[in-house]
Amino acid sequence: MDPVRVAVVGAGVMGLSTALCISKLVPRCSITVISDKFSPGTTSDVAAGILIPHAHPDTPIHKQKQWFRETFDHLFAIANSAEAGEAAVHLVSGWQIFQSIPTEDEPFWADVVLGFRRMTEAELKKFPQHVFGQAFTTLKCEGTAYLPWLEKRVKESGGLMLTQRIEDLWELHPSFDVVVNCAALGSRQLVGDLKIFPVKGQLLNVQAPWVKHFIRDGSGLTYIYPGASNVTLGGSRQEGDWNLSPDAEISKDILSRCCALEPSLQGAWDIKEKVGLRPYRAGIRLQIEVLARDGQRLPVVHHYGHGSGGFSLHWGTALEAARLLSECVQALRTPAPKSKM
Ligand SMILES: Cc1cc2nc3c(=O)[nH]c(=O)nc-3n(C[C@H](O)[C@H](O)[C@H](O)COP(=O)(O)OP(=O)(O)OC[C@H]3O[C@@H](n4cnc5c(N)ncnc54)[C@H](O)[C@@H]3O)c2cc1C
Repeated sequence: MDPVRVAVVGAGVMGLSTALCISKLVPRCSITVISDKFSPGTTSDVAAGILIPHAHPDTPIHKQKQWFRETFDHLFAIANSAEAGEAAVHLVSGWQIFQSIPTEDEPFWADVVLGFRRMTEAELKKFPQHVFGQAFTTLKCEGTAYLPWLEKRVKESGGLMLTQRIEDLWELHPSFDVVVNCAALGSRQLVGDLKIFPVKGQLLNVQAPWVKHFIRDGSGLTYIYPGASNVTLGGSRQEGDWNLSPDAEISKDILSRCCALEPSLQGAWDIKEKVGLRPYRAGIRLQIEVLARDGQRLPVVHHYGHGSGGFSLHWGTALEAARLLSECVQALRTPAPKSKM
């Protein structure tokens, strides 16, 4: 039986993790990842990469929790292996702090992260402007190392990488039997999905090796995340802004907000600005669509729209995309019933 030819469009964290999940879960496929940009040129390379989900209003919470748990388990295993350094995946402990008591008792992901608990009065003394906080241990994953790590594994399992911009998914027919669309914001043009839009985010990567705990304001707007090679300071959110240039005023504001929470950051050096466009969609799109032209069909699995929390859910949604692809492959391998004429 000939292998089923699979094209994965996009080489961010979704495209590469989906390609890897397919190579593990769906037998007898040949996989080609096609993208106009690879690491370090994607949004996924900009991300802070902390595992703290943001709820998507149009996706059921039980699904988001399942995807977060699967992602946490996958990265936890990497963090506990000899691969941790190369993949830049590490455990990190810290605090999420609030200026007023949050309305929800606990976030939906509280029993997935490790050791989730209320902060003590003694811990809260560090943050005199805040009245409530949660302490927990989660994971941080640096895209600039994790993406090449994923890419290497896809290649080791026989996958190919092709640098090419796709203008229309139908271009991939008949060279490929099935397509997985992991083009994130590119889906606006590729499939005309106007439900996805950019939320520009700016952050700073700095050297401050004494900072060991993460600190995150409950709104998620201000954060300090120590990582393997630097400390990430954030952030900003500008809906509908496609401009990839950093704004000096925003950088100043980020530094000042972070220094208010961790004054020792005034001594940080080697400050690098980064900007990325979060692919925001009220619901993550994980769905099969069959394109048809002139009596020919091309099944497509859509896998995009992760907004601010793609790293937090990527492995779980990639497993689901691989399951959808497996359904398409089974349908292709099942001979059509013969006509009774
Ligand atoms: C400042 C910032 C901080 C963030 N911090 C976190 C965090 O701490 N934790 C977290 O979980 N998430 C975070 N995120 C969100 C996370 O980065 C995204 O959810 C995630 O990277 C989306 O991955 P993706 O693969 O869908 O998209 P992308 O990384 O954008 O990849 C899309 C790919 O598709 C390709 N492509 C697009 N159109 C075409 C086309 N027509 N033809 C060929 N190729 C195409 C692109 O070149 C690219 O390779 C952050 C994002 C930003 C901007």
